[in-house]
Amino acid sequence: MMNVIDIPDKGTKKRIVIVGGGFGGLKLARKLKGDDFQVILLDKNNYHLFQPLLYQVATAGIEPSAISFPFRKIFHKRTNVHIRICEALRVIAEENTLETSIGTLSYDYLVIATGCDTNYFGNTELGLRTLSLKTTSEALYNRNQILESFEKAQNTNDLAMRSALMTFVIVGGGATGIELSGALAEMRKFILPHDYPDLDMTQMRIVLIDAGSRLLAAFSEQSSEEVRTYLDKKGVEIKVNCKVETYKDHLLTLGDGSSISVANVFWVAGVRANSISGLPPEVYGPGNRLRVDPYNSVCGFKNIFALGDTAFMVSPDYPNGHPQVVQPAIQQAKLLVDNLSRLNQNLPMKSFLYHNKGSMATIGRNNAIVEMKRIRFVGFPAWAVWLFIHLMSIVGVKNRLFIFLDWMWSYFTYDPSLRLIIKPAKKGQQVET
Ligand SMILES: Cc1cc2nc3c(=O)[nH]c(=O)nc-3n(C[C@H](O)[C@H](O)[C@H](O)COP(=O)(O)OP(=O)(O)OC[C@H]3O[C@@H](n4cnc5c(N)ncnc54)[C@H](O)[C@@H]3O)c2cc1C
Repeated sequence: MMNVIDIPDKGTKKRIVIVGGGFGGLKLARKLKGDDFQVILLDKNNYHLFQPLLYQVATAGIEPSAISFPFRKIFHKRTNVHIRICEALRVIAEENTLETSIGTLSYDYLVIATGCDTNYFGNTELGLRTLSLKTTSEALYNRNQILESFEKAQNTNDLAMRSALMTFVIVGGGATGIELSGALAEMRKFILPHDYPDLDMTQMRIVLIDAGSRLLAAFSEQSSEEVRTYLDKKGVEIKVNCKVETYKDHLLTLGDGSSISVANVFWVAGVRANSISGLPPEVYGPGNRLRVDPYNSVCGFKNIFALGDTAFMVSPDYPNGHPQVVQPAIQQAKLLVDNLSRLNQNLPMKSFLYHNKGSMATIGRNNAIVEMKRIRFVGFPAWAVWLFIHLMSIVGVKNRLFIFLDWMWSYFTYDPSLRLIIKPAKKGQQVET
């Protein structure tokens, strides 16, 4: 028998259990004010993570603490919000109960906002051997890995090994792959030659691989072409229409029969929803996303909702579901606040309509691409817009300020100075070197 999680009595309020304090879950919890609801926010981590800037943590551009914000701090003054750090494991819908790593919890309404994890498309070996970029821990791991590769390259006389250590392959030509490649190209130009004067940085390779026919497939063809030309100029080797087959003993084999000797492979090629188990099989849609109706109710359930990356909502404009980006999560959360209060008052709920505000990706210093409905612009103006929007989206004034200072420092000095190799260790435990 599992322990029942100790939560204060809800009285006459309805209990809403939100699983996941990402963009969707956090917005929902923040907006569910008032006396009608008791809000229980569950998350595996004790902080909200601003994923779009993870690549800058991985490439030593900003500190992880600048893009991570503790939930308990966010909800300091909210008496109707209760936070429990745990992993949600299984829904027992017939009992309106959720099983978690710290016990069970009953709910009146359950909202699943668990986001996504990396998708290796069934190739578990690639999952074990490549680097992914979804969490703060992974970004820090990547930062260590990048820096350690140069330390090891410095210390080896084996030229083949040195070359593998100085080769970086990024699999996935979406926004994250582009941003990561651009950031590594800038490290190669501005930072690494000063940090490692004894290494020949012309030997450092950055290879960007995508299985599709063009980079940035979610953007226009013109943008794809411009990004390709820009990265090409920065010395990034680009391979499209190219599938990764295997990666073993520092050898990456590709579908065209070629191979690359490489010690650092980043896998940013796809995502799979972190949906919780326990629901009927027909509810789990493509990419493990939960099928929801236009009100974000999980199909077949009136009191279970899913939103953001986890939700698979089909509409005439989005027959394959909404893009798994920040805006659908935030907009669905805002509507759900209204709909939950309507449900409470026995009023009909409102359907979700996605307002696509556009897409943007940064490719490097002074350069980004912004695409909105009828406007498309690139270069410095796009980069300035990208900086401003990302800065303003960060939770917390202190974090915004720190990121702004880090960015300004790097911009003017070409040196972010955060290149620390820090590995957590338990007392008495030797850290692997
Ligand atoms: C590297 C990277 C760059 C990105 N760049 C952009 C960008 O530039 N623009 C953009 O619009 N989008 C970007 N995205 C996508 C964007 O971050 C997601 O679409 C967005 O975070 C989705 O919000 P969400 O609320 O659905 O999930 P998330 O924000 O992913 O939040 C999910 C939360 O659920 C928690 N969780 C998961 N499973 C469990 C469980 N079983 N129990 C308890 N807690 C759980 C997680 O810890 C997390 O806090 C990027 C994503 C990544 C990884």
